[in-house]
Amino acid sequence: MADLEQFRMLIGGKAVDAISGKTFESQNPYTAQNWATIPDGGPEDVDAAVAAARSALDGEWGQMTGFARAACLRRLGDLVTENAEKLARQEVNDSGKLYREMIGQLNGLGGWYHYYAGLADKIEGRQIPSPNPNYLVYTRREPVGVVAAITPWNSPLLLMTWKLAPALAAGCTIVIKPSEHSPGSTLGFGELIEKAGIPAGVVNIVTGLSRETGEHLASHPDIDKVAFTGSTATGRSVAHAAAERLNPVTLELGGKSPQVVFPDADLQAAANGLIAGVFAATGQTCMAGSRLIVHADVHDELVRLVAERAATIKLGDPNAEDTEMGPVANKPQYEKVLGYLETAKSEGATVAYGGAAEDALGGYFVKPTVLSVKPSDTVFREEVFGPVLSAVTFTDEDEAVKLANDTPYGLAGAVWTKDVHRAHRMAAKIKAGTVWINAYRVVAPSVPFGGFKQSGLGRENGSGSLDAYLEDKSVWVELTGGTRDPFTLG
Ligand code: NAD
Repeated sequence: MADLEQFRMLIGGKAVDAISGKTFESQNPYTAQNWATIPDGGPEDVDAAVAAARSALDGEWGQMTGFARAACLRRLGDLVTENAEKLARQEVNDSGKLYREMIGQLNGLGGWYHYYAGLADKIEGRQIPSPNPNYLVYTRREPVGVVAAITPWNSPLLLMTWKLAPALAAGCTIVIKPSEHSPGSTLGFGELIEKAGIPAGVVNIVTGLSRETGEHLASHPDIDKVAFTGSTATGRSVAHAAAERLNPVTLELGGKSPQVVFPDADLQAAANGLIAGVFAATGQTCMAGSRLIVHADVHDELVRLVAERAATIKLGDPNAEDTEMGPVANKPQYEKVLGYLETAKSEGATVAYGGAAEDALGGYFVKPTVLSVKPSDTVFREEVFGPVLSAVTFTDEDEAVKLANDTPYGLAGAVWTKDVHRAHRMAAKIKAGTVWINAYRVVAPSVPFGGFKQSGLGRENGSGSLDAYLEDKSVWVELTGGTRDPFTLG
């Protein structure tokens, strides 16, 4: 116990324990050892955080200009870069993801704060012509208020930043609730807030082992907006809670993204994109390209290429430089992935590679798995959130489109072809928030990201995402100083 890292929550600018004094341990899924002690916050801690966020909104932060907020965001971005290594290690300890992936994410994360710093001082209302010349009409763009941000375990700081950076740019205050499976790095990040010159109470972080902590936050009467990333099932209940209060909500949910490969594609490049899409991060990404829809003529060759590369993927210590795939992030998720593999086999899937746990390494390792399946198979339809690729075949473009869109999800997808006409036709027809052409798994602060259908509501990233944190107010100014007939409109 003595050598566990100790973390505290951030409420009203202070590092605090849970009011109950309770704690829980965060487990490193690679070593299967606990590595950190985390405050086990409950509803009363959420109440304190929301009250702190409300009072910060009504205080100094609410009076700060966009120029001053931009300066805070720039400093925060710089601090993230300076602390990238430490934060990346905390993420690896929490989630078992590769250090080389997490340091890459952390080195890029400052860019998000800088991007939104660039927008914070450009939030402009409009002067709008009125049909009645006796009025001057203009709009003000005001922060929506206190934001609840709830994040999942797979990329805690990246997905938190997609909410925090635009919220701060817009002038909101925020209460962040990271996942109980990976709370450490978010609390580590909280230590930077004061150093960035952000006033006390603007950013609050509450952790808790029970899902009730997030539930209490999402349904809190003094929250003005909810920004959520997680599973579709939880997203639905968050949306219900927000609907009760008529609060706006943005949801980034699950996916089952198609990768469509035509026979004219560069198959080596496609194989590489498939590896990036479903084996990077052990397949634990919302945008995992887990459904391979490949032309029947090249199915065997492409599956062989992917299976051969899968066989050489180096599994092991997430901190080692040459490791390519770490463990699954936690026990329930590990059991869920293995359950899907059993179902796939019982439904008649052909295993080109993998299909089982990697027991030799201990921990929660699953072999990278390449399956050929039927479109009706469970593993082709449901989000596995693990290193499992399922392939089906098509013979013409219409069939490929139908297969790609035959899913309740619509987060992302890819098209692999050298035919530029077909590439753009397919990009238009795939019902998803992001389509990559001859590429996979690229994101940027400036490019909107989010889901069609049951993959979500609204967009994160890009200049438009600021709108989700702003309210428009129309101001009418009577110019003549006279009076009017009080019994008419306008
Ligand atoms: P999850 O839905 O179980 O939990 C997400 C967060 O919600 C956690 O912080 C959890 O404590 C909290 N929570 C749980 N119940 C709640 C409730 N009733 N009310 C409010 N909050 C509640 O998701 P997870 O297992 O942590 O993450 C994996 C899921 O996230 C996958 O489905 C994945 O596709 C999705 N995801 C989506 C994106 C995206 O951008 N679209 C990105 C990453 C992950």
